[in-house]
Amino acid sequence: MKRDVLWWLGFVWSLPNTAVGYLFALALARSCPKATSAYWPYPRVAICRDGSVLQRCWMSMRILGASCGAVVVVRDGDSFTERTLKHESRHTAQSFVFGPFFGPAYVLAGLWAVIVRGENFYYANAFEIDARRAAERP
Ligand SMILES: [Zn+2]
Repeated sequence: MKRDVLWWLGFVWSLPNTAVGYLFALALARSCPKATSAYWPYPRVAICRDGSVLQRCWMSMRILGASCGAVVVVRDGDSFTERTLKHESRHTAQSFVFGPFFGPAYVLAGLWAVIVRGENFYYANAFEIDARRAAERP
């Protein structure tokens, strides 16, 4: 019960992020509807190779997944793993804690990694490290 309340509070708190995520997911999904499946509240959008410019751009960047609020978008096919979904779901949990400040906090964590620690913006980002650890848990 308490967990459900916390989940809904986080969901509402990160609603601005989720709205942006849905717009992005819809943009991806519209051009390749047969490759799309949605599971509320974590819609999973499969990306196909012959889709829109946006999808081809996504494919060329070799991004396995992304999340924005409660929306998780993953690349389907051989590269899709449960680990990717767990990683992205952890970003959703982070977004539920930081709400509309998640984006700025993520950028600040990346800048901290680069400027203070002299490391990579993405790999040394505290949010990414946390998501990788969460994805490795059984
Ligand atoms: Zn990540």
